[in-house]
Amino acid sequence: MKTAAEYLESIRRLSIPIYVDGGRLENALDHPSVRAAAFAVAATYDMVQEPGLRERMVVESHLTGEPVSFFQHVPQNVDELMAKVNITRYLNRRLGICSFRCIQNAYAPLLYITAKIDRERGTSYHQRFREWLIGVQREDLLVCPAITDPKGGRKVPAQDQPDPDMYLRVVDRSSEGIVLRGAKLHQTGAAFSHEKLVLPCTTHRKGGEDYAVACAVPADSRGLIHVSVRQSQDDRRKEGAEMDLGNIYYGVHECIVIFDDVFVPWERVFLCGEVEYLGELVNLFGASHRATTGGCKSGWADVLIAAVQLVARSNGLEASAHVQEKLADMIAISETMYSCGLAAAARGFALPDGGYVSDPVLANNTKYYASKAVFDLIRLAEDITGGILACCPGEKEMRNPEIAHWMARFLKGVDEVPAEHRLRLVRLIENISWGLGSILHSATHGGGSGQACKMSLLEFSRQQPHRAEALESARRLCGIIR
Ligand SMILES: Cc1cc2nc3c(=O)[nH]c(=O)nc-3n(C[C@H](O)[C@H](O)[C@H](O)COP(=O)(O)OP(=O)(O)OC[C@H]3O[C@@H](n4cnc5c(N)ncnc54)[C@H](O)[C@@H]3O)c2cc1C
Repeated sequence: MKTAAEYLESIRRLSIPIYVDGGRLENALDHPSVRAAAFAVAATYDMVQEPGLRERMVVESHLTGEPVSFFQHVPQNVDELMAKVNITRYLNRRLGICSFRCIQNAYAPLLYITAKIDRERGTSYHQRFREWLIGVQREDLLVCPAITDPKGGRKVPAQDQPDPDMYLRVVDRSSEGIVLRGAKLHQTGAAFSHEKLVLPCTTHRKGGEDYAVACAVPADSRGLIHVSVRQSQDDRRKEGAEMDLGNIYYGVHECIVIFDDVFVPWERVFLCGEVEYLGELVNLFGASHRATTGGCKSGWADVLIAAVQLVARSNGLEASAHVQEKLADMIAISETMYSCGLAAAARGFALPDGGYVSDPVLANNTKYYASKAVFDLIRLAEDITGGILACCPGEKEMRNPEIAHWMARFLKGVDEVPAEHRLRLVRLIENISWGLGSILHSATHGGGSGQACKMSLLEFSRQQPHRAEALESARRLCGIIR
């Protein structure tokens, strides 16, 4: 298993070029925003080996029997699904930001669907996927989920789009492999991941076979182009004003990844053209992934709530009744997100040939709830923090000898807490609420929009036996049936 230093060194060696700030950097890690995000991942590599955590973080691979990092593991029971929620909460509480370690949620659905296609179509996807995954486990690689297509007009099927590349597609097949053309957007960690796991973001109909593709692509493949996105406050990393970052250690980073005719050998292709299986794959991945949201967002919220509590203390208001009540409301939101994720995991089930996935209704409910609840969380945080959240001078003003004495006096709350400590907390709250590490964006769209979760929730709930029982009960109780 890799240490943080070994992970960073391996990414530096890969040397992923990136278009950013109007130019091209030959090694994405040379950019301060990319580096800060890679440091978050690096921290998770070290946590695996950390005394006190190792017992939970090193597990036995069900594929090889070898010890592997929990982040590379396919959950084999309900306890491991619940551990995923708990570990994600712990990671995000330590980092105060996205921990980038969610791709394992795709592994059980892919093991299952590849075996099913092989059985029904005589393909050999399952063995290929197993072998790739064993390699990922042994090398302890970071894999980026390459799922979101540009999509063009959202109502138009891929094959009817005016531009045929609005969904990533296969443009050539040969005895050696396939060639991919198109793009994947909003790619978290793409600039510092070893591999991309390409998956469809939606189902495709008959006629859209070229768009039905799942495969693994090394990050340094010829034809891959990484374009950095611009995020709120990312320039602050270049200014040397540490305080203004809020989270002084870690960041997030996303890319647009263009596939300019990228060749993928068959041994890395896990689905190609089988449109009939996409619905099941996309739904299972959604169920598997969205339970994790409960741990992810509550871990983030833990840090936010703590920072808000400390700011209230610096304002002399921690004990005030309405502040206590609002802190309790924030805790209730956070614990509800966590409970939903945990419940979805606790009701998880085994997929043949795969591993375990969470209950689809409860998992989609987790993400749907979180996508709305985080806005309440931030409303309460901003309320307690005060206008300073929007009107906070920069570190350079705090340090300017001409005015520093005024800053120290007038930006202080109670006497015991120096202005600098108060403002550091305010910056952290800014980062998590409206800033670079915003929980809002991650909860609203990361892992699928709230609306997509609601639709899945409705669809899966129709299959629940207790819905039919309830319909019968409603009719019986009011006397329609006796
Ligand atoms: C912080 C962050 C990190 C992310 N990380 C990754 C990542 O690592 N890998 C990855 O692949 N993706 C990632 N994503 C992308 C994420 O999965 C998508 O943003 C999400 O699925 C929504 O897709 P979209 O952004 O294209 O928005 P849209 O799909 O355009 O959604 C906008 C709105 O339109 C609605 N809508 C969409 N289609 C229809 C339709 N046909 N009919 C009616 N309404 C419709 C949606 O429900 C939503 O309300 C990330 C996103 C964020 C914000």
